[in-house]
Amino acid sequence: MLTKLKKINLGNWILISMVLGLIVGLILNFYVTNPFIKDIILIDNVFYLGGNLFIKLMKMLVVPLVFCSIIVGVTSISDTRKIGAIGGRAILIYLLTTVLAITIALIIAKIIQPGIGLNMVGLADASNVTTNVTITNTILSMVPENPLNSLANGDMLPVIIFGVLVGIILAKLNDETETINKLFSEGNTIMIEMTRIVMKFASIGVFCLMAKTFATLGFDGLIPLSKYILCVLLALAVQAFIVYPSLLVILTRLNPIKFFRKFLSVMLFAFSSSSSNATIPLNLEKLTELGVSRDVSSFTIPLGATINMDGTAIMQGVAVMFASQAYGMDLGLSALITVIFTAVMASIGSAGVPSVGVITLNMVFTSVGLPTDAIGIIMGIDYIIDMARTAVNVTGDAICTIIVVFKTKSLDLDAFNSKKEIES
Ligand code: ASP
Repeated sequence: MLTKLKKINLGNWILISMVLGLIVGLILNFYVTNPFIKDIILIDNVFYLGGNLFIKLMKMLVVPLVFCSIIVGVTSISDTRKIGAIGGRAILIYLLTTVLAITIALIIAKIIQPGIGLNMVGLADASNVTTNVTITNTILSMVPENPLNSLANGDMLPVIIFGVLVGIILAKLNDETETINKLFSEGNTIMIEMTRIVMKFASIGVFCLMAKTFATLGFDGLIPLSKYILCVLLALAVQAFIVYPSLLVILTRLNPIKFFRKFLSVMLFAFSSSSSNATIPLNLEKLTELGVSRDVSSFTIPLGATINMDGTAIMQGVAVMFASQAYGMDLGLSALITVIFTAVMASIGSAGVPSVGVITLNMVFTSVGLPTDAIGIIMGIDYIIDMARTAVNVTGDAICTIIVVFKTKSLDLDAFNSKKEIES
C-alpha cells in the first residue's frame, strides 16, 4: 500500500487533494452546522493556516526567482550579436506572439466571464482591493527610486526594470563581470530548486484552500471554476490551432498540417513533462527534421523556453479576469495594459519548469492590486492547465523559429515538406 502511494507523482497528488478538498468543503457546507467546529476551528484556523502557509511560501519565491531569472534571460538575449539578424527577429516575434496570446485570453475571459457567480469579496482581505491604476502612475512606478526598497517591498515592475538594466550591462561587460554573471545564474538554479521543494507542499496547501473555499461557498464555486478551465483551454486552442497556423501561412505560405504532423510528439512530450526546458532536446530534433539548422535552433529554442511563454501568458490573462470578476473589480484599459506588460515580463522572467507560471501570477495580480487569495483556488486545478500551456509554449518557440529562419531564407524547404522523419 505504502509503496503504491509512493508511486503517485506530485501532479496526481495535487489533483487528489483538490478533489478531496472540494468534497470535504462541500460536506462541511451542507452537513456541519456547528459554527464552532466548522467556522472557528476548521475554516478560520486549520484550513486558513494550511492554505495561507502555502501561499506565503509561494510568495517568498517570487522576488528572487523573477529577479535572477530576468537577469539571466536578458544577459543571454543581449548577447545576440553572435547570432545577428536571427536573434533580433526571434525576440521581436516572441514578444509579439506573447502580446497576441494574452490579448486573446483577456477577450475570451471578458466574453465568458468565468469569475461571475464566485463571490470572493468575503474571502479576501478587502483592504487589498484597489484599482487605482493609471497609465501615468504605471509609467512612473516602473522606475525604482531605490531598487533595494523595490526588492524588499516586492514591487515587481521596478524590480523587472532594474533586472533588465543589470542584465544588459552584464552582457556588455561580459568578461569583466564573470563572477556576478555566475552569481545570478547560480542564484537562478537555487530558486528553481526551491520552487521544486515548495511544490512538494502543494497538495496540503491545495487541500486546505479548496476545503476553505467550498466550505464557505458550497456549490456556487463549482461553475466558475469549470468556466475558468474552459476559458484557458479555449484560449490555448485558439493560439495553437488558429493563431500559429495563420502566422505560418500569412508570413511564410508553409503548410501548417505538415508542421503539426511532425511536431505533435513534441507537444505531447511537453504536455506530459510540463516543462519547456525538459522538451528542448526533442524540440531541437524535430526542428532539424523540419529544415531548421541546429546553428539557429540551438540558440532560439533555449531562448524561447526562457523568454517566450504564450501559454503561460494566456493562463495569467484568464486568471486576472477570473479574479477581478470574482472580486467585483472592473479593470480599466490602463489596468489591462499593465496586465499585458507584466504578463509579458513574467513570461521573460520565468524558467521553463513546471508550475512557475502560477508563482509569477502573484506579480501580475499585485501589479493591478488584485488580492492574491484567488490564486489558491486556481492552484488546485493548475496542474492540468500547466500541461496544456507548456504544449503551447513549446509550439510557439518552434513556429517563431521557423518563421524567422524562413524570412532569412535559410529554411530547408525539402526537409520541411518531406514526409520522412529522421530516425534517431
Ligand atoms: N510549465 C511551463 C513551461 O515549462 C511554465 C509555466 O507556465 O509554469 O513552459
